[in-house]
Amino acid sequence: MQKEIDMLDVQKIREDFPILKREVNGKPLVYFDNAATSQTPQVVIDAIVDYYSNYNANIHRGVHTLSQEATDAYEIARKKVQNHFNAAHPHEIILTSGTTHSINIVATGFTNLLTKGDEIIVSALEHHSNIVPWQMLCERTGAILKVIPMNEEGELLMDVYDQLLSKKTKLVFTNHISNALGTINPIEKIINKAHQVGAAVLIDGAQSCPHIKPNIQELDVDFYVASAHKLCGPTGVGLLYGKEEWLNKLPPYQGGGEMIDQVTFEKTTYAGLPHKFEAGTPNICGGIAFGVALDYMNGIGFDAIAEYEKELLDYGTQQLLEIEGLKIYGTSKNKTSVISFNIGAIHPYDIGSIVDKLGVAVRTGHHCAQPIMDFYKIPGTIRASFSFYNTKEEIDILVAALKKATMMLS
Ligand SMILES: *Cc1c(COP(=O)(O)O)cnc(C)c1O
Repeated sequence: MQKEIDMLDVQKIREDFPILKREVNGKPLVYFDNAATSQTPQVVIDAIVDYYSNYNANIHRGVHTLSQEATDAYEIARKKVQNHFNAAHPHEIILTSGTTHSINIVATGFTNLLTKGDEIIVSALEHHSNIVPWQMLCERTGAILKVIPMNEEGELLMDVYDQLLSKKTKLVFTNHISNALGTINPIEKIINKAHQVGAAVLIDGAQSCPHIKPNIQELDVDFYVASAHKLCGPTGVGLLYGKEEWLNKLPPYQGGGEMIDQVTFEKTTYAGLPHKFEAGTPNICGGIAFGVALDYMNGIGFDAIAEYEKELLDYGTQQLLEIEGLKIYGTSKNKTSVISFNIGAIHPYDIGSIVDKLGVAVRTGHHCAQPIMDFYKIPGTIRASFSFYNTKEEIDILVAALKKATMMLS
């Protein structure tokens, strides 16, 4: 096993990320906010520069060379996304502006498919982007939102999920990995059980796909969403995967150019998949760079990434727990390299500000998951989230910075 980890040459990998060389407040940057967004390797930056320097043009419209080059590159990127996530067809991949956009396409699309009294189940571990659109859908349709509760460790209570499921259940939504706690949810079971009652399932993979390569066909999931910017790609681009039959059932989300077949003032017919959901000029450069980011991550290898990040998680957990009064929230055995914690009664924001002065970037607050904070009766946490380009030495710097902050604040 040691051999695998050696294969992931972290010092060499760090050379790929120009930002990791910078200083913050006179100290070397220690970037532990990977669950909010990942950093960008030079190959992805180069792809963006190359696009704007050499073939910037609108796609699917022009017969001229630049437009064709841009169109080809964009469609190659779609195929890369399809292959990475193992979807059956490229037209099942809708390139969106990100997870939030993707979820809203589905939530809005279900408006005419639900009636009063239908039920939607979400997990207690959701990001706000996976709660609010369903609440809005319930308001429009009279459907009822049910929540799978969690335990103290931050794990979903699967026996309660069993009881919530019924013929009335039309949709089930959960993230694969909680961005606030790092819990890996048992999505295979969640999907299978939902299908037994005939409900569709949407999995929010925003937090899992930086760590785990999903296999959409094997999961047999109906919808899957993620954002490129958590996967070493640029912001403002992501995917909505939908099974062909589902995408055909949903109406378009936005009207505009690109998404039509024929337009007259009497009637418009829509384009086929995926264009039906891609109105207007998309983030062409972002889509192309997303494909390059996937190539980069696959070049490193998700098995090596998972193994190394597990090592960082174990080391980080152990070192953080040495700090007096530190409590970790989210202690499932099945979790990824996210550690959410508080130290005594000190406000997370105060600690976050001091460690930033020492060059360490952590997240503080409710992490867009207020219901989880309410569960623990806390205003928020400090969250350190590790990526494959982080090191144990950086964890030592975090621990020293936290000790200093605690001394200053107590
Ligand atoms: C980041 C994140 C989102 C939101 O992603 P955007 O790129 O901001 O749309 C949704 N769900 C989870 C679990 C996330 O981690």
